[in-house]
Amino acid sequence: MNKASFDLNALVRENVRQMKPYSSARDEFTDFEADMVFLDANENPFENGVNRYPDPRQRNLKAQLSKVKRVPMNQILLGNGSDEVLDLIVRAFCEPGRDNIITLPPTYGMYKVLAATNAVECREVLLTENFQIDLEGVRAAVDGHTKIIFLCSPNNPTGNLLQEEEVRQILESFNGLVVIDEAYIDFASSKSWSQQLSDYPNLIVCQTLSKAYGLAGIRLGMCFATEEVIAVLQKIKPPYNVNELTQKSALERVLDQKTIKDEITLILVGKEELSKALLEVNFVDEVFPSEANFILARVQDANRVYQQLIDLGVVVRNRSTQPRCESTLRFTVGTPEENKKLINALKTLNT
Ligand SMILES: *Cc1c(COP(=O)(O)O)cnc(C)c1O
Repeated sequence: MNKASFDLNALVRENVRQMKPYSSARDEFTDFEADMVFLDANENPFENGVNRYPDPRQRNLKAQLSKVKRVPMNQILLGNGSDEVLDLIVRAFCEPGRDNIITLPPTYGMYKVLAATNAVECREVLLTENFQIDLEGVRAAVDGHTKIIFLCSPNNPTGNLLQEEEVRQILESFNGLVVIDEAYIDFASSKSWSQQLSDYPNLIVCQTLSKAYGLAGIRLGMCFATEEVIAVLQKIKPPYNVNELTQKSALERVLDQKTIKDEITLILVGKEELSKALLEVNFVDEVFPSEANFILARVQDANRVYQQLIDLGVVVRNRSTQPRCESTLRFTVGTPEENKKLINALKTLNT
C-alpha cells in the first residue's frame, strides 16, 4: 500500500458511494442546549428519561473515549457492539457475489459469519503453528477483489498477539483495508494500533467495552480509522444504533478508569494462578501463553474434560473443532472465587 496513492473511494461499494444518507431529526437540529420546544421527531413529550431519541453521533461518550483512547473524535465510530461495527465495514466495502475478505483461523468466528451474511467470499489462511501470520499464504490468497484482511490481536481463541513486524508488512503491502480486532487489547502488554492511524490510511482498529470494561450487556463497540473511512461507515450506520441507556452507562464506566484498572489487575493475577494450576494437571499437555483474559490449553480428550467440568458446575469453551486447536479448551478468567472453583474441579479430575 502506497500511502500517497491509496484510493479509499475505489474500495467503497458503488451503491454506497452514490447514496445519500438518511438525515434524522437529531441530525438536522443539534443544538440541545438551546431552550427550544422539540416537536420535530414525533416523540412522546412526557419525560421518563428515555422518551427522546439518543444522540446519533454520541458526542458526550465519544468526547470521553477520545481522551481515554487518544484518538480524535472524528476518527471514532461507535456501534451496537463491535459485531455491528464489523458488519458495517463488510457492507460498506464488499460487493456481494464479487468481493472477498481474508481471515486467519483459528480466530473469532464472526468475520466468516458476516461475510456469509453479506454474500461475500471468505478466504481462510491458517495461522502458522505458532499462531502467527502466514505472510506467504496471505499474499497468495489476495486478488483484485480482496477488500479486507481481518487480523485479531490478541487473537481469540489462542490468546497471543500477532507479531508487530508482520502486521506492519500486511499494512504496507496490501492495497485494501486491514481491520485489526483488538477486543482484548486492554489486557495486553503491547500498545494499540490505534496510535498509528496517521501512518496507515488503510488501517481500521476495532475495540469493545464488552471485555476489560465489563459491559458486554450494553453492547458498545468502537472503530478507529481515518476520518475518510469513518465518514463512509457513518453514511450507512443506522442513525440511532447506540441507544440512550448504553450511551449513559458507557460514559459512566469510561469515566471510572480506576475500577477498570483494578479489575484488569485482578484478572491478570487470576490468569497467572490459573496458568500455573493448569500446568500441574496431568491431562493438560500444553498451556498457551495469553495476552488476553482467557487461556487456551491442550488437554487429553477435550470432549470428556469439557463434560466432566460441566458435571462439576464449571462451563468452559471447547475449541477443538477449530483448526490447529485440536483437543483444546478455552478458560475465561473469572473472579478469584470462580477461579478457585475451576482449579478445584481440575484437581478433582486430576487422578
Ligand atoms: C468478544 C469479541 C468481540 C465481540 O465484541 P462485542 O463488542 O461484544 O460485539 C469481537 N471480537 C473478538 C475477537 C471477540 O473476542
